[in-house]
Amino acid sequence: MIVAIDGPAGAGKSSVARGLAARLGIGYLDTGAMYRALTLLAARRDVDPDDGASLASLARDHPVTFLDSSAGRRVCVDGEDVTDAIRAPEISASVSVVATHRDVRAVMVSAQRRALSSGDWVVEGRDIGSNVCPGADVKIFLTASDRERARRRRGELAAWGIVGDESEVLGDLRWRDRLDSEREQDPLVVPEDAVVIDSTALPLDEVVATIARVVGDMTAAARE
Ligand code: C5P
Repeated sequence: MIVAIDGPAGAGKSSVARGLAARLGIGYLDTGAMYRALTLLAARRDVDPDDGASLASLARDHPVTFLDSSAGRRVCVDGEDVTDAIRAPEISASVSVVATHRDVRAVMVSAQRRALSSGDWVVEGRDIGSNVCPGADVKIFLTASDRERARRRRGELAAWGIVGDESEVLGDLRWRDRLDSEREQDPLVVPEDAVVIDSTALPLDEVVATIARVVGDMTAAARE
């Protein structure tokens, strides 16, 4: 079973996807972390965020892996734990440029499809229901108002020890949303058969419960 969760930055996808995977006892894949890890690698090696071919070969040569530890899910590249480093504001500022390239996306999408080829998963990103897993059993498009998304993202940044001004955070979210929605390759869209959830006024555990109900209904219908 695949549950695909797409939506704009700061809509709560990561918390919801993690919570849902734990509740259902299935795997969790954060595809945004893969683009972020590549962006970090590129910055360290002075690879231009506009150089799609070099970025794609970097992505091919340095696959991102995930590790479950007592400190939670860790994101690793070349054996290094980059979980915190990929959340830095300078990575957020250029990740959507890195993610526009067709060659980069081809490497990422095939790695994601390989990871998802067996077992049950909750997967979150921008193009999961529309491109990575068009046959997903459940497709969710999670959104929230701009202000609420900025408030949540600011809280997340604070938890990572990063102080962000709310209007600056809002500007960053809007800029990334625009790049993600307007790019040619695999843009952020509401997948045709997705359930749209506006979480502006909903606590995230209620969003998890709502999606768990959708999954339960789908499983029951499949048994009939
Ligand atoms: O989910 P997160 O905000 O960490 O994603 C960071 C960036 O990675 C997004 O803004 C987007 O540019 C890119 N991304 C993507 N496709 C995905 C997941 C993330 O293009 N499936």
